[in-house]
Amino acid sequence: MSHVLTAPPIATVPVAGTDPDATFPVHRIYCVGRNYVDHQIEMGGSGREEPFFFMKPADAVLPVREGETGRMHYPSLTSDLHHEVELVVAIGKGGRDIPAESALAHVWGYAVGIDMTRRDLQAEAKKLGRPWCTSKGFDESAPIGAIRPAAECYLNAATVISLDVNNAKRQHSVIGKLIWSVPEIIAKVSAAWTLQPGDLIFTGTPEGVAKVGIGDTLAARIDGVGSLRVQLVER
Ligand code: MN
Repeated sequence: MSHVLTAPPIATVPVAGTDPDATFPVHRIYCVGRNYVDHQIEMGGSGREEPFFFMKPADAVLPVREGETGRMHYPSLTSDLHHEVELVVAIGKGGRDIPAESALAHVWGYAVGIDMTRRDLQAEAKKLGRPWCTSKGFDESAPIGAIRPAAECYLNAATVISLDVNNAKRQHSVIGKLIWSVPEIIAKVSAAWTLQPGDLIFTGTPEGVAKVGIGDTLAARIDGVGSLRVQLVER
């Protein structure tokens, strides 16, 4: 068999640890909408609703190694680019209809990610009942730090998730405020799609989402998982 074009490279994310060449190959990126109560409310929700999902293309990842500052190009078509800091689950073992009770056995590791959003286009899409592809799934819309193996992560209900812009606090919450837990999210995603090794799941953002512009530096952090620094630059 031969391809008629040069096959595109596989998107990858660095892995935290001693081997600088180790990478995690990305298959798909699933994202959970409105998974923290106070963010549901700030987006006009009731604070309780079933989780819903959307996707970003695998090559929307903008991988950034720990200690480095990634460069994200300010996207076209928007004047209201928002940050959403999120815990990212990296799937190591696939499956479908995975019960929540055994879901953590499918997790390879965790990372901190930012679900960058063209909020103005998303608001228009919501109003018109249109899909979110242009508001969520654009190039470089998924900055992500190194993936740390699950056994090396220290995650519990009190684990702090935060994002600063230019050293000012914007988002600050704890993982225990997730409405749907990581095992429950894996169960629900795998009920709709067959999860594959290499899938990433962005698990939703806490309150405090806000606008950023060219020149701003975003510093995201999840204690016990990792950190991520990104600066917005001109296209
Ligand atoms: Mn999000």
